[in-house]
Amino acid sequence: MSAEAGVGQIPEGETRAARLGVAIIGAGISGLVCARTLADRGHRVRVFDKSRGPGGRMSTRRAAGWRFDHGAQYFTVRDPAFEQSVAGWMEEGVVSRWAGKIAVLADGTTLTADRGNDRLVAVPGMNSVCRSLAANLDAHRWRFALPVDPLEDPCLFDTDLRLAACGDWCGGPRVEGAFLSGSAAAGRLLGRLPL
Ligand SMILES: Cc1cc2nc3c(=O)[nH]c(=O)nc-3n(C[C@H](O)[C@H](O)[C@H](O)COP(=O)(O)OP(=O)(O)OC[C@H]3O[C@@H](n4cnc5c(N)ncnc54)[C@H](O)[C@@H]3O)c2cc1C
Repeated sequence: MSAEAGVGQIPEGETRAARLGVAIIGAGISGLVCARTLADRGHRVRVFDKSRGPGGRMSTRRAAGWRFDHGAQYFTVRDPAFEQSVAGWMEEGVVSRWAGKIAVLADGTTLTADRGNDRLVAVPGMNSVCRSLAANLDAHRWRFALPVDPLEDPCLFDTDLRLAACGDWCGGPRVEGAFLSGSAAAGRLLGRLPL
């Protein structure tokens, strides 16, 4: 693994020469690490998310005078590749150690109350890491999507895996198409499962 690989490290042998055009749906940390890794290697990446800002379950909400992280409250590090990225974020000032005291209360008694040193938080809010990953990426808010060319099949069904996929992208880009696609998927599944 190359020492300069950075975020989302890929062994050299696995990189591709051709320039890819990639659309990534979801600006949580996983989608953004994927996007950042590809963009840093010169691929054309566009990120779409249904929410206003990046973060997903690492989002921070704000209102007048207060803000809170409403997903992950801290994270820990075990993997060396993640550790390397976290070190970079600490240098950048978007991640810090967190020595908050965590207590477990039961029936009015404190069972544990430790102040471990291995917890990390993004600062000033949990979304800071994702904001940093998303910087300069071509990101779009994707609020409504309509399939342009829906499949003719009412649903997809893998007989061996007994896996059905349904949606308006199969049945047609309307409530009726989506309804019929869901019914078709149930029909295919029931056809395979013992009643
Ligand atoms: C309450 C809570 C507490 C947690 N506490 C911790 C913790 O203490 N420590 C820890 O390590 N982890 C914690 N986690 C888990 C951690 O937050 C998640 O594992 C991690 O953030 C998931 O990242 P992700 O990128 O996989 O998914 P997400 O962050 O969920 O990102 C998915 C993104 O895709 C977008 N999306 C979904 N569907 C569509 C669509 N159709 N079109 C466009 N966009 C779409 C969403 O808006 C979202 O931004 C917690 C999670 C929650 C909810």
